[in-house]
Amino acid sequence: MTPYEVISRKRDGKQLSPEEIQFFISSYMKEEITDYQMSALLMAIYLRGMDYMETSALTKAYLESGNQIDLSDIPGFKVDKHSTGGVGDKVSIILAPLVASLGVPVPMISGRGLGHSGGTLDKLESIPGFKTNLSVDKFRELLKKHNLGLIGQTNDIVPADKQIYALRDVTATVDNIPLISASIMSKKIAEGIDALVLDVKYGNGAFMKAPEQAEELANNLIKIGNEFGKQVVAVLSSMEQPLGYKIGNWLEILECLECFAGKGPADLMEVTYELCSHMLILGGTAKTKEEAKEKCHQAIESGRAFEKFIEIAQAQGADISFLEKPEKYAAAKHKSVLPASKSGFITKINTYEVGMVSVGLGAGRLRSSDSIDPRAGIVMFKKLGDRVSAGDGLLEIHCDRSQMMERPLHRLTNAIQIGEKPVKPPPLLLKEIK
Ligand code: URA
Repeated sequence: MTPYEVISRKRDGKQLSPEEIQFFISSYMKEEITDYQMSALLMAIYLRGMDYMETSALTKAYLESGNQIDLSDIPGFKVDKHSTGGVGDKVSIILAPLVASLGVPVPMISGRGLGHSGGTLDKLESIPGFKTNLSVDKFRELLKKHNLGLIGQTNDIVPADKQIYALRDVTATVDNIPLISASIMSKKIAEGIDALVLDVKYGNGAFMKAPEQAEELANNLIKIGNEFGKQVVAVLSSMEQPLGYKIGNWLEILECLECFAGKGPADLMEVTYELCSHMLILGGTAKTKEEAKEKCHQAIESGRAFEKFIEIAQAQGADISFLEKPEKYAAAKHKSVLPASKSGFITKINTYEVGMVSVGLGAGRLRSSDSIDPRAGIVMFKKLGDRVSAGDGLLEIHCDRSQMMERPLHRLTNAIQIGEKPVKPPPLLLKEIK
């Protein structure tokens, strides 16, 4: 078997055998296959697809590139949540402490921002001192003590995905169902969970634009999870507009603090409660969604969820005075409001563009070596369907570098459409799949 043969078979639309897939991934990890050969295979997979057998074999090959965490000595049914990625999606930061505060252990291994979509790790690290680069031993210790750990992928958890992911990011091969499925599920299987709740996004700010594509992805993810003995529930939710109002790392932490205080935006709380309720049912602490959601409301209202957030932030090195008194955090040096050019209703938000502008302001990375500006981002003032008058603020951009302010505003003018008639936003929660 040679790399050339495997690439050419996929280029010609053939089904790859598990042996061919295993050979390619393991040889790549041993540096016997180059980045350009791996990129060629990725593009062939992107264009020709992979069936379920191949996707499952790819997941297995990814998993075998590293170690799996054994959490069997930690009591309780361990449940994690994963989102396929979006703009303003800060759900994990509210959900993880909330669910942990209600007795379900949450071992959460999250990612960094990718393309236009933000990453939980970057958001958490905008809190001064918060460390996510922790060892597996420390992760286990946190879970035992706090029922919760919020860390990043370590070097020995699915290293193949870590390297291939970086290649996909720069070779336009991210938004592909088999590649996303193997990438997400290998990491989730490796983290030692019993069950997983997936937030599969659809819409113009998601990797899968059409609901049908999102549903196909969800079905694939569930099937792989089940094959590896994990219970999986997926919720399809809308990314036709940013979730909540704040986009950017520290800005999103600020919005999470509003959520912990019971003042979170309706859409963000609806998605959070929906996902939490599935986690509580899987974790055995609630029987029905109604009961689970009632528990979630109480955890927010009583301050229990916030206490758990403070507890884990402190355990992971954060200076919690910034969470208790967020006004201590220096604001971005420059802010600029985008006014509505005419009166009418918000009929469309190009969420991908909003995400990319936020990245360009410094909230994400254009190259993997870029550093993040934790204060940069966008505060939206309007949602789909809202009425606006000419001159009303549509959004505000935040940035530390004044020379970066003009172009983003121009780009955002085209990203928000104002029409004469109101539109009904697409369903926030479209479907639940088990
Ligand atoms: N998140 C992942 O971890 N991998 C993907 O491929 C896409 C989203």
